[in-house]
This record gives sequence, C-alpha cells and structure tokens, in this order.
Amino acid sequence: MADVLTELPGVGPSTAEKLIEAGYLDFMKIATSTIGELTDIEGISEKAAAKMIMAARDLCDLGFKSGVELLRQRQSVWRLSTGSKELDTVLAGGLESQSVTEFAGMYGSGKTQIMHQSCVNLQIAGKIYADLEGVVEEELENPKAVYIDTEGTFRPERVVQMAEGLGIDGQLVLDNTFVARAYNSDMQMLFAEKIEDLIKSGNNIKLVIIDSLTSTFRNEFTGRGKLAERQQKLGRHMATLNKLADLYNCIVLVTNQVAAKPDAFFGVAEQAIGGHVVGHAATFRFFLRKSKGDKRVAKLYDSPHLPDSEAVFRITEKGIMD
Ligand code: ADP
Ligand code: MG
Repeated sequence: MADVLTELPGVGPSTAEKLIEAGYLDFMKIATSTIGELTDIEGISEKAAAKMIMAARDLCDLGFKSGVELLRQRQSVWRLSTGSKELDTVLAGGLESQSVTEFAGMYGSGKTQIMHQSCVNLQIAGKIYADLEGVVEEELENPKAVYIDTEGTFRPERVVQMAEGLGIDGQLVLDNTFVARAYNSDMQMLFAEKIEDLIKSGNNIKLVIIDSLTSTFRNEFTGRGKLAERQQKLGRHMATLNKLADLYNCIVLVTNQVAAKPDAFFGVAEQAIGGHVVGHAATFRFFLRKSKGDKRVAKLYDSPHLPDSEAVFRITEKGIMD
C-alpha cells in the first residue's frame, strides 16, 4: 500500500506524482533518502527536500531511539545456518539479518559455495533461527533469495546437488531463488535497486546475494584517476544493500576479491577490495583461505559485537559442512 505522500509538508498532488514516478512510493523511502537524491527530481528545492525528509522520518519513527527499543529491534534479527556448525558458532548462531556480511578470499576459497549453500538453507526451516518474541512467524514464511551474479558462476545444478545432500527438493530452492546476471556495475546497481520492487509485488525476499560485489567496479574503473568515481558508486551500492537489510529484515551476503597489500610486512598480506567504503558498510567481514583438501578456514576480522576468531569448514559434494 502506498502512503499518502501529500501528508508531507510542501507536497501537493503534482509533487506527489513526481515522487511516485521517481520511485518514492512511501514515507520510508523518502525518510531514508538524501537531499541530493530528492533534488534530482524536477521542481524539488533543497529546502523542500529537507523538510520532506524530516517529516517522513518522524512519520517512520526514525529519530533517536532508546536502548530498550534498540534491544527490541535486535530481537527481530534472525539467523541462517551456513551449513558448518563451527562457522555458525563464530557468527554467534549464523548469518545475521539486518546486516551485510562479506566473504573475501582468493579464487577457490569457497565464497561462491557459501552463497549457493545459503540459498539452499533458506528453504529449510530447521536452518533458520529466530526469536519468536521478536519475529512474527509469517515474516519468514516462504522466504526467497535474490542472487546477483556478476561472474557467471551461479550453477543451478550445484544448488540441486546441495539440496539433495540435505534431503530437500532442489526444484523448490530454484523456484525460490531469483538469479540476475550482471555484466557491468550499472546492471549490478540497477538489479539491487529493483529488489524493492520484487518485495513490493509480494515476494518475501529474505536473502540478497551479490557474488561478487567488486569485480565489475574493479574492471571498469581502472587507474587512480577513476578511483574517486568508483568509490562513490560503490558507496551508493552499499547504501542500497544496507537499506534492504534494515528495512526488510534481510540477510545480505557479498563476496569480494582480494588484492596484495603493498605495504604489508607482517600479518595480513592481502586485503579485500573496496577500501573503507566496503569496510564501513559491511557488518561482518570474513577472510576465507584454502587449507588441506576440502578444508577451508574462515577468519572473522571485523564485527561490532563478536570477537575475532576462526572456523574450519569443508566443501564437499553435499555442500558446506564441518
Ligand atoms: P570462489 O571463492 O572463487 O567463489 P568457490 O566457492 O567457487 O570459489 O569454490 C570452488 C571450490 O569449491 C572448488 O575448487 C572445489 O574445491 C569446491 N567445489 C565446487 N563444487 C564442488 C562439488 N560439486 N563437490 C565438491 N567440491 C566442490
Ligand atoms: Mg566465486
């Protein structure tokens, strides 16, 4: 249901129409937009935009919140198992909703496998953990995933293999997974922006995957001169993802490549691409690395409330496990 935008100060029927045309269908979308985004719409001044945003924030209750309220909001966080108990333990139960979780690592470290497994596990009630005081049951009914594939490595047959490994119907997982192949960063950003439309047309999107987050940006914006533009676009993309996570209680997973750290002498000799823009926007950050045989090591190195730690998991024919 669209909110009645004319309730906002300075918004008459014609401005409301323009807002709707530009995709601002409800107060929440306006409340979480920037002045610059609204002034892009013809006929909206900076002052008017600021007023609209403030009023929309009030209507959406987006001001200061008490610690008690925030604790209640934390209770609505739900978790999804990765398939590995050890990795779930590092995450204090599993992949968290209302957050962006990043998995960085070299080729073959298991990033894409974790993404596939998450789509499968989303269809298994026993792999979803929610506090029923904070999450209404319907919220997690018939959950769906969106997989934005920028490297062409999504494999439906791998999804089926993992599903069968857990004794569920692979077709069910494929039916509930929307896959979009993005060939460049514009497509990638547009697909992420379109997810809200999917949700509004009745799809209960609960998992959003970007595999990989940075490869298109890295290919298109080469050289120092393009860095600022790249970071700006990447920042906007991250903001879209964070909003989805928060507003719709989704789990957002992104994979990332690594580059050698030129100034490293001791410690980590490689780092995730994207710099601070990605670093600040991702809530949980992992490095994955290969170990013996099918073993992989996941190191959590940045989280607001969990200690740094490592988990060993395996990638088998049946999927991710201990
Ligand atoms: P990346 O980190 O580059 O995304 P992937 O997640 O695609 O890497 O991991 C690829 C690795 O996963 C392969 O090298 C292999 O070890 C393992 N793998 C992929 N498919 C299977 C399978 N069907 N059975 C067992 N292991 C697999
Ligand atoms: Mg991959």
